[in-house]
Order: sequence, then structure tokens, then C-alpha cells
Amino acid sequence: MTRKLYYDDAYTLEFEAAAAPLVGRDGRTGVTLAESFFYPTSGGQPHDTGTLGGARVVEVTDEDKGVMHWLEGDPGPGPWKARIDAARRADHRQQHTGQHVLSQAFVQALQAPTVSFHLGPRTCTIDIQLGSTARVSRAEELANRIVMEARVVKAYEVTPEEIEALGLRKPPAARDRIRIVDVEDFDRSACGGTHVARTSEIQLIKVLGTERVRDTVRVEFVCGDRALRDYQAKHDLLWTLGGKFTTGIEELDRIVDKKIEEAALLRRASEKLEQELAGFEAEALAASAAPAGPTRLVARLVEGRSPAYLRALGARLQSREGLVYLLALDQDPPSWIVGHGPGVELDLRETWKTWSAEVGAKGGGKADLIQGGGLSSGTAAAALAGLEARVRASLGGSA
Ligand SMILES: [Zn+2]
Repeated sequence: MTRKLYYDDAYTLEFEAAAAPLVGRDGRTGVTLAESFFYPTSGGQPHDTGTLGGARVVEVTDEDKGVMHWLEGDPGPGPWKARIDAARRADHRQQHTGQHVLSQAFVQALQAPTVSFHLGPRTCTIDIQLGSTARVSRAEELANRIVMEARVVKAYEVTPEEIEALGLRKPPAARDRIRIVDVEDFDRSACGGTHVARTSEIQLIKVLGTERVRDTVRVEFVCGDRALRDYQAKHDLLWTLGGKFTTGIEELDRIVDKKIEEAALLRRASEKLEQELAGFEAEALAASAAPAGPTRLVARLVEGRSPAYLRALGARLQSREGLVYLLALDQDPPSWIVGHGPGVELDLRETWKTWSAEVGAKGGGKADLIQGGGLSSGTAAAALAGLEARVRASLGGSA
């Protein structure tokens, strides 16, 4: 078994490791040390990384025979100089101790016990038993008060008999001696992780959000440097947005509401203008229609308009006595509306079917109204000319 030196000292990051045999497993090389400051993944906290001699320690696992240090590269002959990545360890100390404080704060402020903890690469989460998330900020405020009070964090071992008297937040079902992490006059938990020496090292605990997960609430949070980086990123974002709206951060909410309102007004005004314009263009199109057999026919490639405009135009032409109209909207892919008014003896479905199969368009409808899409925008004009020729032929006019 490995003597776990990080239990008594979470700050020593360099040590001399006695030589031990390298073992191969699943294509990887690992070594179990007699004693080590490297923390193996357990209890919701990820492992340390670092170096052992000339090799990288890329993963650390807790196994029956001891703590396994998984290596990349050749450590060289032992004894080895071992070095733990300082930034990663410091981050884990902050996040993990912050979790202890936040979990106890949820108990004291909202009677909400923690059922699980996850320390992720960007944020941390705890799942807590909580009815309503309305007053989560109360737990956050209490947790940060404990941080600012710089309370001493200690770890010690107790016997199973001593456990009951301690009033643990989450009592373990233990038979052996157990390690207690004690936040001065605030929280006691059974835990094997690495922690800070005083709560002030946590710096800040910030809840980022809550989400209901089955019968618990998942609280996402960050501590320490992560909280600072999160604040910086969000502050920068707000400044950038403020710059775009040429306003201060505190005015942003009101300005964005105003912009949303303005956009809705503009959209309604633009829709109204489009409808009016469709009326005028329908007049002009009907007037420009050329004779085709016993009827008149107009074909038009409509550019720079919306599908709603094309439908409005079609609806106005549809009511014209003796008029056949062919409309294509020049977008990618183009959309098509083909129809005729009363007094025209023509089933457009026949013509559409043969033409669309030929050019690769899709669509369908009634004898006097077809809607479709397909083709690419570059071919719309030529395809429209082809359709016009076909319809003219069906009407008995010259093609
Ligand atoms: Zn812990």
C-alpha cells in the first residue's frame, strides 16, 4: 500500500520518490510508489498531474495495491525527483474546499443536503435536495462570508466510535478509521481530498446556475481563480455589448428591451409595406400580361423579396379573371407559385408534373394553384422561360 502523504500535507509539490518496478497494463506504463504526494482520482476530485523523473504523470488511480502513477515517457533510473503540477493542484484545492463550504451553507441557509459532487474541467456541480431554487443566493452569501472569515481547515483521523459525536454533514458507513475535513466551527465531512489551509484561499464562491435533475437540484458553481476568470469574461462581454449599443453596462437591459421592441415595430411596418407593394406589383403584372390563346399570361422572376411577399403577390393575381401567372422567387433554392384566376380552362397540375420532373423541382397543389420549390438560384430564369413555353402551348397560344 502507498502511504498517502497528501492526507497530511496538500501543499508539498516536490518530493523524492524511491525506485519501484514499472508495470505495463493495457499498453500503458505505471508505477506504484511506497509513498506519494500525488492525488489519485476519487471522491469527485480528479487526479494530479506532474512528472516522475523524466516521465510525465498523466493519470493517477487508487488501486488495491496502492496509488498507481500512469506515465508517458521513460522516468529513467530511480530514485526519482517527483513534481506535481502546481496550478492544477491549487485549483483543485480551491474548488474542493469551496464545495465543502457551499454544501454546508446550503444546509444552514436552505436545509438542503448535498447528495453528490463533481469537479469538472471548467465548472463544478453539487446535486442537492432542495424544493425551490428561489433563495439560492442566501446559501451563496453565507458561503462567501465563511470564505472571508479565513477559517482554519484541518484534516484528522477518527475511529468509527468517535464519528457519531462529530455531527458530520454526511455520515459515512465506516468500519475503519476515517479522515475528517474540518472547516472551523462550520463544517465537518468525511473526505480524502486535498484542501486549502484557510477558507480565504478559496477567494470567492460563485453559483452560476441551477437545474432540476430528477428529484434533486444541480447547482453549478466555480471558486477562486475560476470565479475570477468567469467574472472577467462576463465583464468583458458586457463591455463589448455596451460598446455596440453605445451605453453603460447598467443601461444594457433597458436598451436591449427597447431594441427588441423597435425591431418588432419595424417588422410589422415592413410587412405592411410589403403587402401594399404586392398590391401595386400585382396591378402592373396584370397590365403587362400578354395574350395566350383565349387568356392572358404573365411570368415574372421576383428578386430581393421574401416568400411572404411572393404569396401576397400570388393571392392578388389569383382573383384576376382570365389571367394565368407564373412566379418564381430568386432565392436559393427558388420558390414557385403558379396559378390562374377564374374563367381559365387549364389544369396546371399536368403541365407542372411534366415540367418539374424534367427540371428537378418539387411541389403540387390544385388545378388552378401550384406551390413548389427546388432547383438552384442560377437556373431559375431559364426554368421559368421553359415553364412559360409549356403553359403557352397548353393554352393554344404561340410558344
Ligand atoms: Zn473534501
